[in-house]
Amino acid sequence: MPETIVIAGAGHAAGQTAISLRQGGFEGALIIVGEETYPPYQRPPLSKKYLAGEMELERLYLRPEKFYAGQDVELRLSTRVDAIDRDAHRIALSDGSEIAYDKLVLATGSHVRRLDLPGGDLPGVNYLRSIADVQGIQSGFQPGARLAIIGAGYIGLEVAAVAVKAGLAVTVFEVVDRVMARVVAPETSEFYAREHRAAGVDLRLSAPAITRIEGDDAVRAVVDENGDSMPIDMVVIGIGVLPTTDIAAAAGLACDNGIVVDEFCQTEDPDILAIGDCTNHPNALLGGRLRLESVHNAQEQAKTAAHTLLGKPVAYAQVPWFWSDQYDLKLQITGIAKGNESRVVRGNTADRSFAVFYFDQGRVSVVEAINSPREFMVGKKLIAAGAELDPAAVADPESDIKALTAAALA
Ligand SMILES: Cc1cc2nc3c(=O)[nH]c(=O)nc-3n(C[C@H](O)[C@H](O)[C@H](O)COP(=O)(O)OP(=O)(O)OC[C@H]3O[C@@H](n4cnc5c(N)ncnc54)[C@H](O)[C@@H]3O)c2cc1C
Repeated sequence: MPETIVIAGAGHAAGQTAISLRQGGFEGALIIVGEETYPPYQRPPLSKKYLAGEMELERLYLRPEKFYAGQDVELRLSTRVDAIDRDAHRIALSDGSEIAYDKLVLATGSHVRRLDLPGGDLPGVNYLRSIADVQGIQSGFQPGARLAIIGAGYIGLEVAAVAVKAGLAVTVFEVVDRVMARVVAPETSEFYAREHRAAGVDLRLSAPAITRIEGDDAVRAVVDENGDSMPIDMVVIGIGVLPTTDIAAAAGLACDNGIVVDEFCQTEDPDILAIGDCTNHPNALLGGRLRLESVHNAQEQAKTAAHTLLGKPVAYAQVPWFWSDQYDLKLQITGIAKGNESRVVRGNTADRSFAVFYFDQGRVSVVEAINSPREFMVGKKLIAAGAELDPAAVADPESDIKALTAAALA
């Protein structure tokens, strides 16, 4: 059993690792070093209830701050891990101090992809990753304010939903021809585009790229590649995230679209593990390697790392899942699409409750469920089991999906 475990990064995965280690009986020194000022917190509400002002700050926290003291977990916040000395088993911190570790867990998460364009640093140009980012956005959330959102991914659309409800005039610019193109089927994209437009969002698909933001002490306009200008008061950019691998790469650890780990969250260094958004990891259930940006993955890899550190390794093999809340619509997705699957829609989009089932050589491989928790739940089971279903039976609104699933799993 190691004597000192240090966790670099104080996000969701870090917090869960500390919780799981103490639950699993680890009694050694446990130190979490995080560059943000807050204890580990959940990010999903940042673009949903917290942005809408419907959630208190403390409710974001994974555990109240006093939990860590009670569990003898040292939180070193507002402190960055600058470097890892693998030979000496030490990390160097931004406050000039060093910490020795027996085992190091990298939980550095991901950071926003920035749009490199003139005016991109003006006050009023925002990204959304942290509590501090939300506080910046909220200061401009005045009814009637003109908000430009660049990118119609799930974060851009969640912000659009909150903003339009708060009375802002919202325009979403998306260069591709459908919303959430990276994560959902065209049927789901079409449905969400209709919902946003019905709510009053000016959704511009296949839009010319925004190439300049104009302003002085505040943003005044966005300008596209054709030179067309639109007056605005604030901008939110949501064009994806990148894994935070800087300290791992500088320490010579293999990084390839994330820090490379095995099914036990172990890097090539036997004393360094990595978990959460920052990893490129194998998943035997899906038969390949992937990098995920989801709470479920952060939590489950944290538990896997804790098992490894406690000397009771359990291979990570989870069916990925994810959710997004926009208006009164809950989108839940399970599985990972490859792009060549066949699909059927179960239910009617007009009812605002339907699911898209993907089939890969007869097997259910992805389910996107919109206000359809039952289809989401059966989807997880079917994918985990590699079960086959008859697409025509799934698409038949009269069929009983639970009975079909039970028969497929029998
Ligand atoms: C606005 C928003 C909405 C989301 N909505 C959903 C959702 O609905 N459903 C869902 O499943 N997922 C959602 N996600 C994704 C989910 O929050 C992430 O997958 C999850 O937070 C990953 O956890 P993590 O601990 O791996 O990384 P993070 O939460 O990114 O935490 C990593 C932490 O490490 C810190 N750090 C990095 N490098 C260093 C260093 N060198 N030294 C010290 N600290 C460092 C970072 O500052 C950060 O605080 C959302 C994310 C955002 C931003």
